[in-house]
Amino acid sequence: MARVDLDGNPIKPITICMIGAGGFIGSHLCEKLMSETPHTVLALDVYNDKIKHLLEPDSLPWAGRITFHRLNIKHDSRLEGLIKMADLTINLAAICTPADYNTRPLDTIYSNFIDALPVVKYCSENNKRLIHFSTCEVYGKTIGAFLPKDSPLRKDPAYYVLKEDESPCIFGSIEKQRWSYACAKQLIERLIYAEGAENGLEFTIVRPFNWIGPRMDFIPGIDGPSEGVPRVLACFSNNLLRGEPLKLVDGGQSQRTFVYIKDAIEAVLLMIENPARANGHIFNVGNPNNEVTVRQLAEIMIQVYSKVSGEKTPETPTIDVSSKEFYGEGYDDSDKRIPDMTIINRQLGWNPKTSLFDLLESTLTYQHRTYAEAIKKVIAKPVAT
Ligand code: NAD
Repeated sequence: MARVDLDGNPIKPITICMIGAGGFIGSHLCEKLMSETPHTVLALDVYNDKIKHLLEPDSLPWAGRITFHRLNIKHDSRLEGLIKMADLTINLAAICTPADYNTRPLDTIYSNFIDALPVVKYCSENNKRLIHFSTCEVYGKTIGAFLPKDSPLRKDPAYYVLKEDESPCIFGSIEKQRWSYACAKQLIERLIYAEGAENGLEFTIVRPFNWIGPRMDFIPGIDGPSEGVPRVLACFSNNLLRGEPLKLVDGGQSQRTFVYIKDAIEAVLLMIENPARANGHIFNVGNPNNEVTVRQLAEIMIQVYSKVSGEKTPETPTIDVSSKEFYGEGYDDSDKRIPDMTIINRQLGWNPKTSLFDLLESTLTYQHRTYAEAIKKVIAKPVAT
């Protein structure tokens, strides 16, 4: 049966230039596009480990519909040609790990703003549609965070729900370098928006709210550097796999909403296949029903990991560390992140489905299967003196 869009029109196969296709989100998006659609993907990245299973062997049912182009968009003249070959460009490339924002602010700003500039320019000049990945961090802190601690208004959604077309972007001072990422993302959003307004660029901006699932980041010392600090899901997974206490930064009081990567990818596919409904819009993509503090996230992960691995919960399940000790000078944080879903509901009829418990169960099952043996071997190895 022919696949149809939300307005009942048949969907024509297109070619997509996906930059950052080898990362966490890119790998899930490539998988979805190969298994469920007729579209062709030009996959650009410096790494392809997370999409190797889609590229080889040649006998895969989608062989020929996905090709990998190893390139760094900072300096590669092939970029414009690849954008020209495609109908749509999706830009996922970025440094997007909080541990980098205050310790490598220059790389963070260059990656999220300067390196994205040619992508926007080539799309605009060649009349190509662009889906750009921004972040929920552009909202920064909530208005409610500035109210007195005991103010009843803190409980009023008007003071914390984040709306694409109304909420301000509230960052800390310049010395709080944590905001380098959010600020660079905000400026590239403004540039894309301006290209739309002044030059007619067809764009969609995605603001992910903590998408999590298998293949997110790396486990330090196994498939990434021993000293590396990945995002919270991989940090906690690493502690669980090693039987160590989970480290809670500043008491783990920040509140976050987590959405399952597979739910979020459904939203991206709707954007890809319904350009008339997605162009010119900024979309929050998150799950407002899955809100927890980072401390609660740790507690649920401990419980779920014990269930999927059959191992006892550690005697000291969590320890507190200061943000200065964990992330270094210049760290700061958003207090709470609840996405407003009005626009994505109205334009694309999308809603997330998976509960926090269920998404952690499938993710930690994957982490256990993928890493438990390798971790055991590393732990058993005597340390050289
Ligand atoms: P990721 O780090 O797993 O993927 C990014 C990919 O981009 C990596 O494979 C990396 O190698 C590639 N890349 C970076 N710089 C490049 C360059 N110069 N040339 C070529 N490739 C380059 O991150 P992700 O979680 O998949 O995130 C993708 C996008 O979504 C990013 O823009 C990020 O800011 C945004 N985002 C993600 C989340 C989330 O919850 N995962 C939240 C907010 C924003």
